[in-house]
Amino acid sequence: MKLEGAVVVITGASRGIGHAIAEEMGQNGAKVVVNYLHSQKLAEELVTKLRQNNCEAVTIQADVADPAQATRLIEESVQRFGRIDVLVNNAGINIDRSLKNLSIEDWNKVIQTDLYGSFYTIKAAYSHFISQKSGAIINISSQTAYTGMFGQLNYAAAKAGILGLTKSAALELARFHVTVNAVCPGYISTEMYEGMSNGAKEAAVQRIPLGRVGTPQEVARAVRYLIVDGDWITGQSLDINGGMYMR
Ligand code: NDP
Repeated sequence: MKLEGAVVVITGASRGIGHAIAEEMGQNGAKVVVNYLHSQKLAEELVTKLRQNNCEAVTIQADVADPAQATRLIEESVQRFGRIDVLVNNAGINIDRSLKNLSIEDWNKVIQTDLYGSFYTIKAAYSHFISQKSGAIINISSQTAYTGMFGQLNYAAAKAGILGLTKSAALELARFHVTVNAVCPGYISTEMYEGMSNGAKEAAVQRIPLGRVGTPQEVARAVRYLIVDGDWITGQSLDINGGMYMR
């Protein structure tokens, strides 16, 4: 797929990896929808920057954990740009607690955002993809989907669920020339990572064969690869983790 003129919707694009994906898409000529939940100022600053670089871009506030808002995000995007070519399900949260301390509420919150949110947007977008007979969906999962993580039952379950969702949607949408893939990052230097204790961060880096955490831009380039050069790649997950976990 050519990114030039393609309409790309990115959930959770105000900060971190989603922000970098929006920049990567904009730099390559896409029309970009920057979704956010709370960070209106950051989302608007990003759109201003994209427009200064001749990229058509808009912000749309929506909570992807709410099915009505996730549907509105897709419908407003299509109204604004006339179509949708790429959906990047990036929005995610973590509420890390050991099994003993994890409340039902915190379990639900993370599953609703990280897993249900991706389903809601795909459900809202699929009829557009089918009628266009082309498109790409990228779901941001995590290395944790494979390895699990102490204190991340909710997050790991959601991210593993995304892999099953990805494969099943890939099977259903292949006949309409729509690819569905996941990206599984290891540790990436965003606010989510910076929220870890210094000790945990040092321990993490020591476990990475390439000796450093990744950057949001490196994940964004992996996403671009799947969209632009991934015509015959579907139902897969691309691991980007500095060699920390090898399957
Ligand atoms: P950040 O915490 O830096 O950013 C999260 C983004 O998601 C923000 O833009 C936030 O919007 C948005 N968001 C959160 N909840 C919602 C919601 N309900 N509806 C819409 N948007 C929402 O996270 P990262 O950039 O680090 O992570 C991005 C993705 O990558 C996540 O899915 C995460 O699980 C995954 N990932 C991250 C890794 C890392 O090491 N950083 C490793 C592996 C995977 P707002 O600012 O408006 O609240």
